[in-house]
Amino acid sequence: AVPLLVAKSTALSAKNGLLIKDRTAFENSRKITTVVFDKTGTLTIGKFEVSKVVSLNKELKENDIIRLSAALEQKSEHPIATGILQKAVDLKITAPSAENFKAITGQGVEAMVEGKKVLVVSPGYLKEKHIDVPEGFKSNDTETVVFVIVDKALAGYIALSDEIRPESAGAIKKLKENKIKSILLTGDNTKVAGSVSKTLGMDSFLAGVLPDQKLAKIKELQSKGEFVAMTGDGINDAPALAQADIGIAVGSGSDIAANTAGIVLVNSNPDDVVNLILFGKATYRKMV
Ligand code: ADP
Ligand code: MG
Repeated sequence: AVPLLVAKSTALSAKNGLLIKDRTAFENSRKITTVVFDKTGTLTIGKFEVSKVVSLNKELKENDIIRLSAALEQKSEHPIATGILQKAVDLKITAPSAENFKAITGQGVEAMVEGKKVLVVSPGYLKEKHIDVPEGFKSNDTETVVFVIVDKALAGYIALSDEIRPESAGAIKKLKENKIKSILLTGDNTKVAGSVSKTLGMDSFLAGVLPDQKLAKIKELQSKGEFVAMTGDGINDAPALAQADIGIAVGSGSDIAANTAGIVLVNSNPDDVVNLILFGKATYRKMV
């Protein structure tokens, strides 16, 4: 039988867009010592706006950089894709079609556009392939940058900015008051991750992480005796969500994330995440 208190709290939760799929996950609340947050769409609003477009190829104008990128991003659902597509709309650019589209897990997208192989990728991808960042390249601490590669040559880059949610600072503070650590885990670049983590007063951050590295980080924390809750929204997050003591799928992200998580939160508001954990703690403390 489901204890009354839990039945009551679960019903209460459903109204707030909360689905507790795995009751033991919720019971784990009382042990949680660390909360690992994804960034985009959870601690930030998740709405990217293009702030800069740079062409590094004499034959391509800035509009061509957007045009080629938009061709690929039509096939992606990443918030970066939405931002680039919006820019194309603003500039009244019609994107050509893309063939052989492929997502490069945690690093970007690639496809054939007008007979050329085009990639839109993270700084981490450039590093991995030993492609030098262009001379004079500068981004500020709050910008997410994606590089555009055309037929193996760096052709340009696009900077995008997102905003921290108004609720995030309060949520992190509440965790701190309850002696729970907070860690930022993101595929985005180090500068942005560091800036968000610092602004919010989080305990640490890890940037440029690929899905298996997210999983490894959760395991590492657990091996150090931490009990870990983690939020995530993408396919990329599924292995780590399954490994966490509480996996919380947030937002209207992928079904795969929702299937592997013990808890699903329809909103990706970090305040809801924190309240849920503190509520679970209080609930199960009383039941002992
Ligand atoms: P997160 O941990 O923020 O969910 P992702 O794994 O979704 O990170 O993405 C990591 C990085 O890969 C992004 O910051 C970006 O540089 C790159 N990337 C992912 N998807 C796309 C896309 N559709 N277009 C361009 N870049 C992308
Ligand atoms: Mg994500």
